[in-house]
Amino acid sequence: MLKLLCTTAHPDDEVWAFGGSLLRYQEQGVETHVLCLTRGMAATNRGGAKSGEELSAMRTEEFYAACRLLKVTRPVILDYPDGGLANLNFSDAAGEITRHIREIKPDVILTLGLEGTVTAHVDHSMVGLFTTAAFHWARRTDRFREQLESGLQPHRARKLYYVTAAQTWPERQPVSLAPVTSRVDVRKYIEAKIEAFRVHTSQLALLEKYGDRSLRQAEELFHLAATAVPQAVAGETDLFAAVG
Ligand SMILES: [Zn+2]
Repeated sequence: MLKLLCTTAHPDDEVWAFGGSLLRYQEQGVETHVLCLTRGMAATNRGGAKSGEELSAMRTEEFYAACRLLKVTRPVILDYPDGGLANLNFSDAAGEITRHIREIKPDVILTLGLEGTVTAHVDHSMVGLFTTAAFHWARRTDRFREQLESGLQPHRARKLYYVTAAQTWPERQPVSLAPVTSRVDVRKYIEAKIEAFRVHTSQLALLEKYGDRSLRQAEELFHLAATAVPQAVAGETDLFAAVG
């Protein structure tokens, strides 16, 4: 069975960045995984929560509820500090993601763009950077050897993609987006994607502020960042092309 892993920074990233692709590939029989690094306790929108702990608990529930709607086989949320991913020890964080890759053994990995995605969020950049290192290091026998000594095997994922966009958001910090190499048609899943975003009730102010235009896009756009087998790519429409 083919496997897809998406790595994210905050509860709700799984919806706007990957929601349509998660549904589409689940429907095609792919086992889907989401690994979210924080519980989103530093969000501007607090959903009435009185403390970081309360917001963290609320957003954890929202994450699992959204993943149920997106039919994610196995959602996992970690306890790294929201807004603080750039302050982590790089090797430790990349090592943790490497361990998950060696356990899950995904064929294709999707993550957030190194520029921080259209929102220019530094946590988004860091997830992309940690995951990029983990993609490359998971297959090696000389990285995180203690994981291999404890029984895990090196794992070679076939492809790494960054989510990208056709346009930047002028109201946010300037970013340089990765070029679009791959387009996934998600028209069929737009309503399901919006429904999954709506279970993030603490973040509904975002929908009021920005509208659901970005969730209504017919395609999710990606940049093919690395492949296990060297290849040229142009105009790809299937993230599992040449895999399996
Ligand atoms: Zn985010």
